[in-house]
Amino acid sequence: MKNKTILVVEDEVVIAMDLQATLIDLGYEVPEIITAGEVAIQRALKLRPDLVLMDIHLSGAVDGIAAAAAITQELDIPVIYLTAYADEETFQRASLTTPFGYILKPFEARELRANIDIAFYKHSLEKTIKEHRQWLLAVLNSISEGVAASDTRGLIKFMNPVAEGLTGWSQAEAVGRSPTEIFHFVDEVTGNLIDNPLLRSLHEAHTVYLPENALLLTKQGQEIPVADSAAPIYSDRGQLEGAVMVVRDSTEQRRLETQLEHNALHDTLTGLPNRALFLDRLRQAVDRARRSPEFGFGLMLLDLDRFKSINDTLGHLIGDQLLVAIAPRLQTHLRSVDTVARFGGDEFAVLLENISDVAVACRTAERILDEIKQPFLVENHELLVTASIGIVMNSIPYEQATDLLRHADIAMYRAKRRGHGDYELFDTAMHRQARELMQREHALRQAIAHSELVVHYQPIVALATEAVTSLEALVRWQKPGAELIYPDHFIALAEEMGLIVTLDQWVLRQACQQLQAWRQLGVGAWGLVDGQLSRQIGNTGPPPTMAINVNLSTYHFTQKNLVDTFADILQETNMDGHLLKLEITESVFIENAKEAASMLSELKQLNVQICLDDFGTGYSSLSYLHQFPIDIVKIDRSFIHGMETDAEKLEIVRAILDLCHTLGMAVTAEGIETPAQREILLDLGCEYGQGYLFSRAIDGATITRTLG
Ligand code: C2E
Ligand code: CA
Ligand code: CA
Repeated sequence: MKNKTILVVEDEVVIAMDLQATLIDLGYEVPEIITAGEVAIQRALKLRPDLVLMDIHLSGAVDGIAAAAAITQELDIPVIYLTAYADEETFQRASLTTPFGYILKPFEARELRANIDIAFYKHSLEKTIKEHRQWLLAVLNSISEGVAASDTRGLIKFMNPVAEGLTGWSQAEAVGRSPTEIFHFVDEVTGNLIDNPLLRSLHEAHTVYLPENALLLTKQGQEIPVADSAAPIYSDRGQLEGAVMVVRDSTEQRRLETQLEHNALHDTLTGLPNRALFLDRLRQAVDRARRSPEFGFGLMLLDLDRFKSINDTLGHLIGDQLLVAIAPRLQTHLRSVDTVARFGGDEFAVLLENISDVAVACRTAERILDEIKQPFLVENHELLVTASIGIVMNSIPYEQATDLLRHADIAMYRAKRRGHGDYELFDTAMHRQARELMQREHALRQAIAHSELVVHYQPIVALATEAVTSLEALVRWQKPGAELIYPDHFIALAEEMGLIVTLDQWVLRQACQQLQAWRQLGVGAWGLVDGQLSRQIGNTGPPPTMAINVNLSTYHFTQKNLVDTFADILQETNMDGHLLKLEITESVFIENAKEAASMLSELKQLNVQICLDDFGTGYSSLSYLHQFPIDIVKIDRSFIHGMETDAEKLEIVRAILDLCHTLGMAVTAEGIETPAQREILLDLGCEYGQGYLFSRAIDGATITRTLG
């Protein structure tokens, strides 16, 4: 390493030479001796020594202190003063130049050496600290967030350029002021001043966040949405030293949030409120009307007529543009308080607030319909469209927004059915019908919950012997003290309400339990004697296997765990799978052929048999019969009824039988009412029969009794 260079400035040449010799002895380089202040400045800048030993009292215009000041202004090097004496005033002047030591003349070599060592050490320490400080400052100044710090009293001590930019205050102006003056936070919604987080974090000694909707008021009076947090600063000894605050301009973030919020509540195509927003407003209207009965409102549902054909013939893009063009037309006849929404597809909804007069709602509907009838020009196509509107008024007070929507929908469909371009008001008659439907739904739910359902069993016989081979479980609804209700009156409703799966599984469990109970009674073969179910006397063969037929709605085939559920029921009731015949209809294949096929083959693994019910009524596609694992086909009773006289029906029945037999399936004829029908079917080779000729469906208890 190169020796350190020391510049000696001393006007007493003897001392200077002595110094030089000593320093060289100590291992320093002393390139020259300078005796005057002006020269010292000049030479120092030229030589760039590592340290200057400076005599305070120099003869000449520039004394040691002035020379040292000039040198340290240019060079970052330590200066040590040499002096024989000094008055107070001189010392004060000298200390202003922050020297790294004083050496009183005369001095010893040891003293000189110690002073120089200390000066170098102190100087390098200071340099490191300065570098660290500069680095930290550079970090703070490069952060994209605004940073401000306060001292323990809470007065601003530091602000980075971003904080300066945000507040409009420069650090120089801000330092020493209260943060409440510099950082003026207000609540965007209430406009109220927000407690300054920097001061709060200082007082509460923990991190403090600004509320979400805070604004920063700049010096120039501008409002900037910001996010902000402040935390106390502790020294490494754990002493509170102030607080630091980070402020971020959240304009863009809030814009995005607002945008997202808007998107969540608006239809992207037309920009109108969407169903969610509309429902919210509708609920508010319902609530308001409940609180203050004088507040009336109306709801309109509007559906375009034949929109589908426009879409199909001209394409979706034209269809979309038409919808976009319709939106403003809907709005032209509404007040600003009213809400128009797009519900999806070509359906729109309008909420008319603060109207109690039906006539006003009707007039609005008429105007909207007229407006829509005006031709639309979409990409050089002149489009003529009409719409249908359903209106419901809150004059009959509603509890549920969804009921209003349902009723508006009913009215809209009425309007649609009446012809195009018309509106319909949901009236009391419709209200009554709708209420009745609701009551029926409620009643059916109750029926299932309170086990008002019962299962009746209709025998299915082998046509050749009239031995009963199976019983079809048919559900009925027995309301206490009322007539028996037949499934045609509630199965469709149960399907619509999503209750059918529960219902069918209940019937299945019931039927399995019943069959098991009969088997335990030791029932042998059953037959029909004068239309009465009875034990077959004289049957000495092996005990025949009585099976049970259970109807399954198509809805079952949308259930994921169908097969598991059935396996569970069989196990619970201790039923053999081969005694169970599940009746399904053709619609199962039409709606979801692939899934249905795989579900059926899974079901078959439970050993159950599959019957195709009501064959011939549905899609009558004989071609798919062989694609599915079907064991028995049940010919619908409409083909049996009148087959004695209707040659066409007879031919159909014959064809079905031929085909099924070719495919190895057995056939059951439903609805056999006359002996003639039975004879024909027997001749045609039909295996099984079911119908009033043999027996009606009978309740379980009666069967148990007759068999006993
Ligand atoms: P289906 O499966 O075709 O049941 C046969 C229907 O024909 C039964 O009517 C039965 O009483 C009737 N019937 C039997 N023999 C004759 C006859 O000789 N002449 C005439 N005219 N009719 C006869 P029901 O019990 O009223 O059932 C009607 C329909 O309800 C059933 O038709 C079936 O589709 C459905 N259903 C019944 N129970 C259930 C069930 O538990 N679940 C499901 N999903 N549907 C069921
Ligand atoms: Ca059936
Ligand atoms: Ca049937």
